[in-house]
Amino acid sequence: MLRTSLQVPERLAQIPHYPILYSHPSPIHPLPTLTSSSLPTTPAPHSPKISIFTKREDQAAPLACSGNKYRKLEYIVPDILSTAPKHGHHEYHPSDQPLPGRSTILVTEGAIQSNHTVQVAALARKLGLKALVLLNRGTGGGLRNASDKASFLRTGNVQINRLLGAEVRVLDEGDPLSGDADPVLRELSAKGEIPYWIPGGASLHPLSGLGYVRAAVEIAQQETEMKLGGSGRFDFVFVACGSGSTVSGLIAGFKMLESGEAQGGLPPRRVIGVLNSPTKPRQYHEERVLRFARREGLLVGLDAEKDITMADVRLEDRFVGTGYGVLDGDTRVALRHMAEREGVILDPVYTAKVARAMLQWVHEKEIRDYADDHAMKHVNVLFIHTGGQAALGAYADVDWE
Ligand SMILES: *Cc1c(COP(=O)(O)O)cnc(C)c1O
Repeated sequence: MLRTSLQVPERLAQIPHYPILYSHPSPIHPLPTLTSSSLPTTPAPHSPKISIFTKREDQAAPLACSGNKYRKLEYIVPDILSTAPKHGHHEYHPSDQPLPGRSTILVTEGAIQSNHTVQVAALARKLGLKALVLLNRGTGGGLRNASDKASFLRTGNVQINRLLGAEVRVLDEGDPLSGDADPVLRELSAKGEIPYWIPGGASLHPLSGLGYVRAAVEIAQQETEMKLGGSGRFDFVFVACGSGSTVSGLIAGFKMLESGEAQGGLPPRRVIGVLNSPTKPRQYHEERVLRFARREGLLVGLDAEKDITMADVRLEDRFVGTGYGVLDGDTRVALRHMAEREGVILDPVYTAKVARAMLQWVHEKEIRDYADDHAMKHVNVLFIHTGGQAALGAYADVDWE
C-alpha cells in the first residue's frame, strides 16, 4: 500500500478523472515459487536473478469483478456525466454534436464471456444509469469450443451481467448489429433515452488509455516504496493486449515518467503486450497500439510522434493459441501452474496466456541479454493481473488433466 498519496504529474492531474478504484493502489506482491520454478535448473554462469511480481488489477476496485476496464472508465465517467457528452457516439458514426443531455444508459458490446461488459454494467448501476450489453456469439472460439453451449451462454459473466440488471442481447454470428450497433442507439433514443456508447474493450474511446497512464505512475511509486533490488524498477512488464489501450497506456505512461526522471543510466522499462487472439496479425495490433500510445502521449504533453515510436511497441504473438477465448493445452498448463504453485487464479482468456508467455521469456535469451547489456545481476519482472476470473465458470467442462 502506498504510504504517500499518488503524485500525479501535472498534465495528467489536469484531466478530469472520476475515482472508481479503491483509494489505495492495487497490490503488488512477489510470486516466489514461480520465480524459482521457472528458472532453468542449471543456470548459465552469467544468468541474472529474475524476480517475478504481480500487480493485482483484479483487486483494484470494489465493483463487480474488478479488472482493467475500471481504470479506463475512470477517465470516461466525467464525459458520461456531463450535460453535453462528447464521446458517446458509436465509433462508426462520429459526430461533433454532443449527446443531447446527460446519459441515461450505457451501451456496450463484447464476446459472450466479455469481462468488459460486466464492468460497464456495474459502473452504470453505481452511477444510477441503466445498461444494455450486446454479446456476440461470433466473437472468438470460446462458445464454439464449449461442449456445453447452453451453459457457456448463461454462466460466468453472462450471469453476472443479468444479476447487475443489465439488458442482455445475444447476437447471432453475422447479425448486422454485431458489426454496427448504431440502430440500437437510435432505438433507445426514440424511446427517450440518452444512450452513451462505449466501444468493445473501450480502447477506441479517445480517453480510455489514460487509466493505464495513471497506472504507470502508480507502479513507479510502488517500485520506490517496495525497495526492489536490481535497478529498483520493474525492468519488464508483461500485460495482455486485446483491444490495446491497457498496453498503450502503460507505454505512454512510462514514457511520460522516463522523459521527466533523471535516468541514472537505467534503460527504459520494457512493456511486453501479449496477444491472445490469432484473428488479426501482429502488425494490425502494433499499428493500433502505437496509435493509441501516441494519442495518450499527446494528452499528457509528450511530443507524441517523436517520443513514442514503433520501437516502444513490443507485442508477443507466439501464444495466441487456436482462437480467442479457447483454452489450449499450454494456456491450461499455465493456469494450473499459477493455481497450484501460488494459489493465484488467472482467467482463461487473457492472463493465462500472459503467464504462459512470461514464463517462456524467463527461459529465453532476451531478458538475459538485457541483463548482460546493462551489467545487471538482478532483473525484476512484473505480471499485470487484469482480472477476468468470472469467466472461469463457463469453462467448467474443460478437462484439466
Ligand atoms: C479486456 C481485458 C484485457 C485486454 O485489455 P485491452 O485493453 O483490451 O487490451 C486483458 N485482460 C482481461 C482480463 C480483460 O478483461
